[in-house]
Amino acid sequence: MDSHSAERERMVETQIVARGIRDARVLSAMRTVPRERFLPPDRHSLAYADRAVEAAGAQTISQPYMVARMTECLALAGTERVLEVGTGTGYQATILSLLAREVFTIERIPDLSEAARTRLAALGRANAHFFTGDGSVGLPPHAPFDRILVTAGAPRVPGAILSQLADGGRLVIPVGPREEQDLEVHAREGAAIRVTRMGPCRFVPLVGEQGWRGTET
Ligand code: SAM
Repeated sequence: MDSHSAERERMVETQIVARGIRDARVLSAMRTVPRERFLPPDRHSLAYADRAVEAAGAQTISQPYMVARMTECLALAGTERVLEVGTGTGYQATILSLLAREVFTIERIPDLSEAARTRLAALGRANAHFFTGDGSVGLPPHAPFDRILVTAGAPRVPGAILSQLADGGRLVIPVGPREEQDLEVHAREGAAIRVTRMGPCRFVPLVGEQGWRGTET
């Protein structure tokens, strides 16, 4: 037990279970990870709020429900190699590291990546690997991946990322205009891709070669 465990339990029950998340492993991970450790001290009081919170570098730590929902969409059994695009604070990567065999996480802002690496090391998570660069083109040297999670909004599904998805794999990605996206699940079955739309969401833009390039609207 730690000083935030009651808040964490309340977050899981009122924000996540109440909205229909049922995967027991996802709920257990959300009950375990101390979310306040991913925010600066003056924002600890917002760590369990039902919303995204601005973290360092004008980037955000996603709403707890959205983290749980995206993770449930990945349908992790514990054996997978997972790519996360958009390390941010490292909170989602920590959740993934509890639920998958290995996590590869890429962030375009080097300082964020370094801070996230330090946080995961402090929490004893040794199965996450950190990369800096444009994740809109995936992480070719380590492909293919059983699961890919993009935690920034893309104007369209990057072909490079889709091509790095293993057979039987799943890609979870917010796709659509800058203001609001649809959360999409792309499941690869041989040469075929089955797409399921999970509903609206709102993420900061995926900036890069196969994401937003600055001039697009
Ligand atoms: N998963 C994060 C967490 O748990 O804190 C939240 C991610 S935040 C909503 C989106 C992140 O995607 C930002 O840190 C942003 O810098 C990063 N990002 C945007 N475009 C990117 C790109 N092309 N490659 C890698 N990271 C990118």
